[in-house]
Amino acid sequence: MDLIIATKNRGKAAEISVLLRDFGVNVLTMDVFPEIGDIPETGDTFEENALIKARTVARLTGLTALADDSGLEVDALAGAPGVYSARFSGQDATDATNNALLLAKLEGVPWAERGARFVSVIAVHAPILGGKELLSRGTWSGRIATRPQGTNGFGYDPLFLDEDAGLTAAQLESGEKNRRSHRAMALRQLAQSWPRFMKEVGGQG
Ligand code: IMP
Repeated sequence: MDLIIATKNRGKAAEISVLLRDFGVNVLTMDVFPEIGDIPETGDTFEENALIKARTVARLTGLTALADDSGLEVDALAGAPGVYSARFSGQDATDATNNALLLAKLEGVPWAERGARFVSVIAVHAPILGGKELLSRGTWSGRIATRPQGTNGFGYDPLFLDEDAGLTAAQLESGEKNRRSHRAMALRQLAQSWPRFMKEVGGQG
């Protein structure tokens, strides 16, 4: 079965492709459908936005689509940037401007109050099963460092410290991030309902 990953974020698509290795699907990325533009994320929650992306891409391609909506929740900022993580520093935000804004907002905040978590919600929408949907959620707790460190990964990785490892997500090698991350946890949860899902899809063929 073909499964399209409904994201244009190459960092995310790369991580998800690796994590789907044992799902028994042929993974496609949005590169195959360059005509599909940005999908407005109008929801207030990760769940709503993940479903919007999976449903839209499934409708436009006719394929089973998997979307991740994710972000960073910072305790000292009352859970911000949350669902607005990608655009934290404005419409033209880049990873660098987002990280700079996060550091500025946490200037002077003591270590004990710099707790944060990454959240990933994964949604699957399957047109072949009459629009059957799956949802799963994973989190990864850590702390926001006082300066960026590391060059791996994407987004807020250089500022997100995994306290067990004593390293930022951008200092972890990709396999290690894929064992610890919010996205890995969401996909591990999804893996539990996957065999039954594939059986149902097979039943349609
Ligand atoms: P969206 O899910 O496309 O709305 O964007 C999620 C945003 O959250 C990304 O652009 C990153 O800024 C941030 N984010 C999500 N997951 C990660 C991660 O694994 N590492 C670093 N930043 C992340």
